[in-house]
Parts: sequence; structure tokens; C-alpha cells
Amino acid sequence: MAPVTPVDVHPLPPGAETGAETGTETGTETGPDSAATLLQDAAAHLFNARNAGTYTAQVLQGVTAVAGRVAECTRPFTGATPAELKQRVDGVDLGTPLADTAAALEELEGVYLRDAVYFHDTKYAAHLNCPVVIPALVAEAVLSAVNSSLDTWDQSAGATMIERKLISWAAGQLQLGDSADGVFTSGGSQSNFQALLLARNQAVEWLKLDPETDGLRLPSLLEKLRIFTSADSHFSIRKSASMLGLGYDAVVSVQCGTDHRMDPAALAGELARARSEGLVPMAVVATAGTTDFGAIDPLDELAAAAREHGAWFHVDAAYGGGLMVSGRHRHLLDGIHRADSVTVDFHKTFFQPVSSSALLVRDAATLRHVRFHADYLNPAAAVDRPNQVDKSIQTTRRFDALKLWLTLRIMGADALGALFDEAIDLASSVGEVLAADPDFELAAGPQLSTLVFRYRPLQEDGGRLSEGTADRLNQDIRSAVFASGEAVVAGTTVAGRHYLKFTLLNAEAGVADIRGIIDLLRTTGASLLAAAQVSA
Ligand SMILES: *Cc1c(COP(=O)(O)O)cnc(C)c1O
Repeated sequence: MAPVTPVDVHPLPPGAETGAETGTETGTETGPDSAATLLQDAAAHLFNARNAGTYTAQVLQGVTAVAGRVAECTRPFTGATPAELKQRVDGVDLGTPLADTAAALEELEGVYLRDAVYFHDTKYAAHLNCPVVIPALVAEAVLSAVNSSLDTWDQSAGATMIERKLISWAAGQLQLGDSADGVFTSGGSQSNFQALLLARNQAVEWLKLDPETDGLRLPSLLEKLRIFTSADSHFSIRKSASMLGLGYDAVVSVQCGTDHRMDPAALAGELARARSEGLVPMAVVATAGTTDFGAIDPLDELAAAAREHGAWFHVDAAYGGGLMVSGRHRHLLDGIHRADSVTVDFHKTFFQPVSSSALLVRDAATLRHVRFHADYLNPAAAVDRPNQVDKSIQTTRRFDALKLWLTLRIMGADALGALFDEAIDLASSVGEVLAADPDFELAAGPQLSTLVFRYRPLQEDGGRLSEGTADRLNQDIRSAVFASGEAVVAGTTVAGRHYLKFTLLNAEAGVADIRGIIDLLRTTGASLLAAAQVSA
């Protein structure tokens, strides 16, 4: 490693002397010499040609610490409590840096790494978090070091072209047509928000062209807009409506069938009712993979209904988007090509680290609704420059696309699809296991890779545990299992009743692993019941 020599240090900026004076006032050991030393030490931490060796060595230390931790990991969590972790983090004095990176990483082991929740573990089966693929981790190292920002061409160059190519690749997979475009986003919630923002502005534009509504002021126009989505759709749809100035009441909750897919007849009814009340259907939002049941709405039929009423058709495929590369389940997305916009979370079913998501649109021109020309950044005079800020609601933006790029270049799309297919198959097998188990009730058969179920054993009298007891018990089972760290499962409610949920995305997990979790849930439930009877 090259030693830091004074020759390498830039001359002190004029402000440095003022800093030294302030130091004298507070009585710390200062002076021109210590200010120079401080700057010299600080500059040794800058990532540049001179410090390239330091960079390699230190990043390797960090990576080695994580690899060591993962190698030793035998369960998804240690069960550390918020109070314990708060105390440990509070014990760190941020005013006093440690001697070196090794010491900081050792400290990090205690305040974070040892007690993190590990998604790669086969007994992590809770939320839509995936084990991540190594090519994407290589990309993370590259993209954060180069630190391109995807807002303008002059901060990104080739990164912009790579992002654009991936957007057209994904749009091509979904057959959105020749005019398709899109942009990477921070996640599904942001993608959904942007989609609805485009839909809202599009609707307002049309209303302004209509002589009947042209004279109305904006608030009166916004009051008329309605978004139709299933009762099972993601909460970010409702939250977006609120953030877009439409209010929660602008979202019409459309009934689902028993399979948790939106009922097209119910949608037709709601659309007709809204029209008869003089309201304007702004958007129909279908879900391709609901968060709880993995349900995929009947896309073709919903697209037709949206088209008929001039409404924007958005498909939230945050979860189901991975099916676009699936070898065996791709057909589940049939009809998605009719969407005006699609949300895809690469950080879910493409096995990418957080965050990596995209919003795709069928008509590139609709992205004009988020375009704003700032003189300092993307002046109107420079419209021929490929500035991605023109398509995004973010300004400074990470080059998250590189993760998917290296993943496709190293593994290929089929390999990603195989990983997701394996998780779907696992869910199907586990569904059979749960359905055959008299101690458990399955809320619905698996559709993608989730299972919603509860522990509700038969009682001595041959009946089931009461609903109320089952509600409390399943919440307590989930907490107790989390506290043990042996497994992590999720919880949700169905028709007001508490259930447990598996979200399976780990191709390394087998039926035996998940059976292990099921047995843990059973023994935990049985002992909680027994304890309650003893104390009652
Ligand atoms: C996860 C999810 C979202 C939200 O995505 P984030 O990346 O967490 O913001 C939206 N819709 C569905 C269906 C999801 O499963």
C-alpha cells in the first residue's frame, strides 16, 4: 500500500485556518500542524487512484466479515431484542472514531452483523425478501465505487445506456410494444406512485379537452377521479392516491373471488356505477401476484374493461414480475402486454439486493408528465441529451440497473427464472403438506410462492380451537418463533382473522426445511396453549 506523503495532500483551503481558531477557543489540541494532519488523514480515505490499494484491502475486509458471518450462520436470526440492540448501538460514541477499519468491522459484528435477519437462510420464510445472487453483489461494489448518478448524461454516460437497454429488454419480455419506455425506481411503491401520477395527469389532460369539464378548476377535476383496484391490492395504491391529492376515497375497492383475484364482473359493475354518478375512471390497477396470496388478476379481462372506459391500465407486478423469465410459469402473465404501465420489483423475484425496481410504460410520451426542465441540470435547450431525470421522479439516482445487467451477463435470464420456478414448486409441495396436516388450516391454495395458514388443532371434543383463541395464538406463535431466531414467518389477516404466512423465494430450501418450520410452529403453539391452560 502506498504510504501517504505530504506531497500528495492538496494545499489547505482558506477556511482551514478558521477551523484551527475555533479549535483553540474550545481548548482542544490544534494549530496549523494538527489541521494539516487531520486533512492528510482524511484525504487518505478518499477513493481515488492514489488510494486504490487501500480501497481494495478495506472493501475486502468488509466483504470477508460478511462472508465469515454468513458461513457461521445456522439460523435466520438470533432473537436479539430491540432493547438489547438499542443499548449496544447507544453504547457507541460517534464522537470518537476507532483506530481502523478492522476495529470498526469488529464493532459492527456486535451491533449489527451477528444479530441481523438473514434472508438467505432456509428457515427465513416471512416477507418478499429474496436470497441475493452474487453477480448483483459484484455490481453493488462497482456501482457504489464509480458512483454514477442516473439523472443526467453528464453524470452517467454509459450507465444511462445500460439502464435504457435493460428497460427495453424488460418491456420486450412483456411485449409492451415499440413505443415502450420506463425507468428504474427505488421500489414497487415508488413505481406504483409514478404510474398513478402519469395516469392522473393523463386523465386531467383529457378532462381539459372536454368542453363539459374544461372550465372546472383543478380541485374539482381531481375530485371526479377514481382508481379501481382489488381489495387485495398493495397498500401503496391507496397511499399513492392520497399523495396524489385524490384522497383514500378515490380508490374503489373491487371484490375478489374466493381465489383472491379481482372479479371482472364486479369491476364492470363498479365502473358503470361510477360513470352513472358522473365520476371519471382514472385507472384500473391489476395485481400480478398479490402480496399475501400471490393471486394474479385476470389481466386480459381487466385490460378490456379499462380500455372500454378510457381508464389507464396499470399492472402491479412487483411480485409476479419474475415470471417474465420463468421457464414454466410465464403464461401466468398472459395479457400483461395490454398494460399502459407495469411495476416490476427486481429486488423480489429477480434475486437482486435492495433496491432495484422499474416502472415500464407502453407509451414513452406519457413520461412527459414527470419532466421538468431545470436550467442547471437538464435545460430545455438540451433536450437531445439522454437525461434520465426527464423520466424519473427522483433526481440523483443510483445505478441500480447495473445489478440486473451483471446478473443477466453472468447467469442469464433463464437461470433467474429457474430459481423462481423452484420457489413456486416448493410452495406447491408445502401447500400439500399443510392441507394434509390436521393441526393447520390453509386459507387458500398456493398461486405463486406464498402460503397463508394458521395453527388450529382439533380439540378433545373433536371441534376446532375457537376463532378468538386461534387469533391470539397464531400471533403469539409468530412472536415466539421470531424471538427464538430459529425461523422467521410472517403474519397477515384474512377477513379479520389472524393467519401465519410463508413467503418462499429460496431455491436452496427444500420441503424438509419448511416441514421443520411447520413442526416448530406446532410445538410452539402446543406449548403456548398448554401454558395458557396452566395459568388460567
Ligand atoms: C412488495 C410489493 C409492493 C411494494 O414494493 P416495494 O419495493 O416494497 O416498495 C407493491 N406491490 C406489491 C404487489 C408488492 O408485493
